[in-house]
Amino acid sequence: MRDQYLVFGQPLVEQPEIDEVVDSLRKSWLGTGPKVAEFERRIAAYKQVPHAVAVNSCTAGLHLSCLVLGLRPGDEVITTPLTFCASVNAIVHAGAVPVLADVDPVTMNLDPEQVRRRITPRTRALLPVHFAGRACEMDALMQIASEHDLVVIEDCAHAIETEYRGRPAGTIGDLGVLSFYSTKNIVTGEGGMVLTHDATLAQRVKRAALHGMSADAWARFSDDGYKHYDVEEIGFKYNMMDLQAAIGMHQITRVEDWWQRRLAIWNRYLAELSDLPLELPAPWPETDRHALHLFTILVDEARAGIARDELLMRLHRDRIGTGVHYRSIPSYRVYQQRFGFRGEDYPVAWRIGQQTLSLPLSPKLTDADVDDVIAAVRRALA
Ligand SMILES: *Cc1c(COP(=O)(O)O)cnc(C)c1O
Repeated sequence: MRDQYLVFGQPLVEQPEIDEVVDSLRKSWLGTGPKVAEFERRIAAYKQVPHAVAVNSCTAGLHLSCLVLGLRPGDEVITTPLTFCASVNAIVHAGAVPVLADVDPVTMNLDPEQVRRRITPRTRALLPVHFAGRACEMDALMQIASEHDLVVIEDCAHAIETEYRGRPAGTIGDLGVLSFYSTKNIVTGEGGMVLTHDATLAQRVKRAALHGMSADAWARFSDDGYKHYDVEEIGFKYNMMDLQAAIGMHQITRVEDWWQRRLAIWNRYLAELSDLPLELPAPWPETDRHALHLFTILVDEARAGIARDELLMRLHRDRIGTGVHYRSIPSYRVYQQRFGFRGEDYPVAWRIGQQTLSLPLSPKLTDADVDDVIAAVRRALA
C-alpha cells in the first residue's frame, strides 16, 4: 500500500515557472502584460496559427467565441453529451440553445451522422470536443458546416497536442479554445487561449475579454505614456494575468517531452491491463495525433463483475485517485429541467458516462506510481 495518496491529474511545475512567477512578483507587474504577449506568441507558434488570444479560462474563451461569431438568442449549437459542463454552459451564457448529438462508441467524439439528424432551421454552430485528446472527424463535421452555413468552435481543452490529418486541432474550425486548468496537459492554474486564422475575430475576442475597451491596460500604463481609451462594446473581464502566463510560457516548452512521457505510461497501461475484463482506449488513425490527455477504461459490470463506482472506491482505498470523464450531460438535473435532455436519447454517451474511469496519466507520475496503479487495478478486479 502506498503511503502517499496519488492525486489525479497533478501538473508538473518546475523551476523555470517558479523563477518566472517570482520575477513577476518582484517587478510588481501582476496583470496582463509582456508575459501574456509572449505566452500568446509561443502558443501561436506551437499551434501554427497566426492569432492566439489569452483569456482566464477555456470557458471564458468558449463564451466569447460564441459571441464574436454572432450567435443570437434562440440560435442552436450542436455539441456532445460527453463533455465537461463548461462546453454547454458557454453556449447558454451566449444566449444560444445547446443541442446534443450522440457520440461514436469507438472514438467517443461527436458522430457526424448523429449531428446531421439534429440539424434544424435554427442550427447556427457546431461545438465539437476533441475528447480525451483524440481528434474529432473534422472533415465530416466541416462538410456538414459548409452545407448548412454553420460556424465551428473547437473545444480543445484536452487537445493541445492533437492533430487531425496533419492539421493542429483548434485551427480547423473558425475558432479553437485551449484550457490551461490545473489538470490539463499544460497549466497556468486557471487559463485559456482562443486560436484563429481570422485577425478580425482575434481582435474582437481580445476587446470583449477586457471590458470592450479599445486598448489593453498594458498599452495604457506602459512607459510610452498614458493613453485615453474608448469603450466600444459591453465586454467582460476575462483577461489572463502575467502571473498565469509566467507559468504557461515555460510549460509550453516542455509539452513534447511530457507527451512522450504520457505515451510511455499509456503503452504500459495498454500492455499490462489488456488481459483484464475492461475496455481500453481504442487505437486512433495513423494520420492523426492523439494528445493523450485521458486514459479512459470502460467498466461493464456484467463483464468486470463490479461496477465503475466500485472500482473507483477500491482504487481510492488503495490510495489511487482517479477521475470520471464524464457522466453525460443529460445526467445533470439543470439540463434535464431547462432543455429536457434525457439519457436514453443519447445512449452511447449515457453508457460511457456510467462505465468510464480515467486512470492517472500525468507526466509527474514516477514508474513506481504507474506500477502502483496497474497493481491496484489488477487487485480490484481479481
Ligand atoms: C476543462 C474543460 C473545459 C473548461 O476549461 P476551463 O479552462 O476550466 O474553463 C471545457 N471543456 C472541456 C472538454 C474541459 O475538459
